[in-house]
Amino acid sequence: MTHKKRPERSSLFWRLGNSPQPFSAISVAKHSRIRNAVAVDGVCPYCAVGCAQKIYIKGGQIVDIEGDSRSPINEGTLCPKGSNTFQLTVNPHRQQQVLYRAPYSDHWEQKPLGWAMERIAQLTKQTRDAHFVERDEDGDLINHTTAIAHLGGATLDNEENYLIKKLFNTLGIVAIENQARI
Ligand code: SF4
Repeated sequence: MTHKKRPERSSLFWRLGNSPQPFSAISVAKHSRIRNAVAVDGVCPYCAVGCAQKIYIKGGQIVDIEGDSRSPINEGTLCPKGSNTFQLTVNPHRQQQVLYRAPYSDHWEQKPLGWAMERIAQLTKQTRDAHFVERDEDGDLINHTTAIAHLGGATLDNEENYLIKKLFNTLGIVAIENQARI
C-alpha cells in the first residue's frame, strides 16, 4: 500500500480558512439592526388572529417589528400584512395633516385638526337629528339612526374600539363595523 504525500501545511490549501478573512472595515462594522435594541412585547394590530410581535426600540425610536417566536399562535411568523407593521409607525409617506376635499371640488386642502373635528361633530349631529327614530311602527322604543355608519380601521387598538363602540351605540348608530379583515 502506497501513501500519498500530504500537502505541506504552509501551502495555500491549508492556509485558507485559517487566515484572517479579507473583510473590509465596513463589512466588519456591519451588524444586525436590532443589536442593542430593547424588545417590547406587542400584538399585531391588523386582525383578530392576534399574532404576537416583538417591537425593537433604540434611542426612543422603533427600529424593527418582528414576529415573536414564543407565541403559540404564530411561532415567530407574521403574514404579509403583519410583516409590514413597522411601516405603520415609520413611513415617510404617512399623512400627518388633515386633508379635506369640499363637495364637487377636484383638489384636497390642508385643514387644522380642530376644524376637522368640529365639522365631523356638526355633520354627525345634523344627520342624527334629521334621521333619529325613537319608536318603530309598532310603538316599540328603538332609539336609533340608520343614516350614519361607522367603519373602523384595522389599526385601532382595544381601548379605542371600546370607546368608539360606546360612543356610536350611545348616538343610536347600529351599523358599526371594522375593516380589519379587508
Ligand atoms: S394580520 Fe397577519 S400577522 Fe397580523 S394578526 Fe392577522 S394573521 Fe397575524
